[in-house]
Amino acid sequence: MLRTYGERVHKVAIDAGLSCPNRDGSKGIGGCTFCNNVTFSPNGRAPDPILEQIQNGREVLIKRTGAKKYIAYFQAYTNTYSDIETLSKMYETALSEDDIIGLSIGTRPDCVPDEVIDLLVDYQNKGFDIWLELGLQSAFDKTLKRINRGHGFEEYRQTLLAARGKGLRVCTHLIIGLPGENETHFKATLQRVLNLGVDGLKFHPLHVVKGTQLANDWRRGEYRPMTMEYYVKAVSDLIMMAPKDMIYHRLTGTANKKQLLAPGWCNKKWKVLNSIEAELRSKNKEKVLWN
Ligand code: SF4
Repeated sequence: MLRTYGERVHKVAIDAGLSCPNRDGSKGIGGCTFCNNVTFSPNGRAPDPILEQIQNGREVLIKRTGAKKYIAYFQAYTNTYSDIETLSKMYETALSEDDIIGLSIGTRPDCVPDEVIDLLVDYQNKGFDIWLELGLQSAFDKTLKRINRGHGFEEYRQTLLAARGKGLRVCTHLIIGLPGENETHFKATLQRVLNLGVDGLKFHPLHVVKGTQLANDWRRGEYRPMTMEYYVKAVSDLIMMAPKDMIYHRLTGTANKKQLLAPGWCNKKWKVLNSIEAELRSKNKEKVLWN
């Protein structure tokens, strides 16, 4: 971003008030086992209008970072899960702000029809910085079934190829520490993702939050969270596998203290990031990200 725009660009997170097909019965019921839908709208009320959310985010970011340009990050739920008129209206509301230079659209791989890809490509052709963020989590269908994801690797493959085939950049979201998985699984997942081609990656540790099926499994002792050391090594190993020009949208995830049950280190973002940097430095200086 610094290289492209000559200044910092930050994401402003937006909840557009959409739902998720893995919750409302069209793909599944109950959602992914790790997902607490309440965390997106803690008061159970409708989100503020998009422009209001941008203004609130902008005020915080300008004070904290001095950033004057932003990417509208449609983050909560499934941000392509509506008719095309509704989607274009909400995306264009964000893009109508002078300091919003692009969009990042978080969604599920089984919920991105061609008309949505075409719409996003159209924004890109108009000069906006556009990313499609696909939640894959694992390339193993057995794992995806176990976490009640409601889609398999094949849906990801098709959407990825369709989007990138039209020149849209894709960021793939992967989770480390999924039940039944170990190092072999997440490395194989990344290899399959890299083999198909991808523009950006987002890594997230699996954490246990209140109100989820995973929380029940954890309470019964059926799920054991990772240590920070394990996660740091895992992320560093994955970075070492990826090409040098890969764009990392995120290397760890945090959770609201009130919602987080385990592991406790998940709310120490900078400790995790600094440890990943130290691990990378010890492996290979060329892969260090913050130089
Ligand atoms: S993680 Fe995403 S796809 Fe899964 S239930 Fe939650 S909102 Fe839906």
